[in-house]
Amino acid sequence: MAHGKEHHHGHAHGHGAPEYRFCPKCGGGLERRVVKNGEPARLVCSDCAFIFYLDPKVVAGTVFTIDRRVVLLRRGVEPSLGKWVFPGGYVDRGESVADAAVRETKEESCLDVRLGPIVGVYSYAGSPNVIVVYAAEVVGGELSAGDESVEAGALPG
Ligand SMILES: [Zn+2]
Repeated sequence: MAHGKEHHHGHAHGHGAPEYRFCPKCGGGLERRVVKNGEPARLVCSDCAFIFYLDPKVVAGTVFTIDRRVVLLRRGVEPSLGKWVFPGGYVDRGESVADAAVRETKEESCLDVRLGPIVGVYSYAGSPNVIVVYAAEVVGGELSAGDESVEAGALPG
């Protein structure tokens, strides 16, 4: 993952919601306002009334084994520095979730994988992330720490 795209491409585990302060259309100040009863307060521009919807973010990841050991990566950047995680990251707008899972796995572990079935879809109240995890199998490459990882390891699964 290239630097400078961190806000978008950064690893997704543990991210909180960003705090936007200015309207992307006119630069006016954003304020929290209930637009529709029963829905959460929205960020609304005090100048042009633009509603800045904070949509969920989709994360794609893979779980796979090498010699019956689950491959995990140790994070080299915040958030969750030093934590062991499965390969994964944000899906780009216009990119398929499956393509993102393969791409992120390659970027972070230097392995080419073929996707199997979806293991699960995970989301948590208060978190912007919707995490789609695929089972995968390795079809090429050699395991090493790629972008944002300091260590790659195969832990007993
Ligand atoms: Zn505005």
